[in-house]
Amino acid sequence: MRRCCGVTAALVSATLLIGGAAWGIAAFNAGGQPSDAVQQAASNTIAAGADPIIDPVFGPTQVYQTTEDGTLRPAPGGIPGQVWAALMRMATPEFVADHLGGLRVLDVPELDLIARVERGVGDARWTLIVNLARISDRATYLRTLLHEYWHLVTLDLGQFDSSAAECETIRLLGGCLRADALLERFFARFWAGYGPSAPAPDSTDAAVGWRLYVRHTADFVSSYAATNAAEDLAETFAEFVIRDRPDERSGTWAQKILFLWDDPEAVAFRDRVRDWFVDELPPPLPIRDWQH
Ligand SMILES: [Zn+2]
Repeated sequence: MRRCCGVTAALVSATLLIGGAAWGIAAFNAGGQPSDAVQQAASNTIAAGADPIIDPVFGPTQVYQTTEDGTLRPAPGGIPGQVWAALMRMATPEFVADHLGGLRVLDVPELDLIARVERGVGDARWTLIVNLARISDRATYLRTLLHEYWHLVTLDLGQFDSSAAECETIRLLGGCLRADALLERFFARFWAGYGPSAPAPDSTDAAVGWRLYVRHTADFVSSYAATNAAEDLAETFAEFVIRDRPDERSGTWAQKILFLWDDPEAVAFRDRVRDWFVDELPPPLPIRDWQH
């Protein structure tokens, strides 16, 4: 048990760099799993491919580096290869080469993580981490990639003012979001009114997010979206791509999606992805409303 807390702390610090995409109830169990079981499972089930490294948090992990044209070296096979190909098609090879430094593949059934993007302090590019054990089908990883892609767009270094001494906007990833950043505008419109009891913009505390979700269920497209504003925006983006355009009278969740309909970049991306992945995307998530 001694390793439990160290692993938990490392998970939290990794997540602080940016949250993952393990939405749903399962996400709220993250961090509570015994690390010894995680390590054992990882060593037993990691897939063949690149030589694995031993990640201090995740155990055996396959590491791939992005090349100048956005492809990976070494070239992954199987599901990791399909995930990367889908990401390249969604985001374009140029975007992938600019924003992602590589892919890490783990296979840990006990870990409530589907995927995550991480960026170290001062790094220009992110690393995509995928957990093969939680990628059960193509629809699942396509939705996950939509979520992670929007993190890359909305947390791009261009969205931050790193020279500001004090933030008048959201402070994230060690910088201040620019006043015109999409996430800042999303926060101001949909999150500022929750007040101090809501999760902070960099919160990864599942219990705090859950309390917000219970009080405002119909504000969110998923329970995981209540984790913090960045996760809400990423979850909302995935539903924006998957769903038909909603009626604003359907509720706050729908108004969040319509907020993205006002973003030309988002709409152009949606059109492109729906052309390519028609019939492969998952169905929309059910919207819950526990207040009625
Ligand atoms: Zn996320």
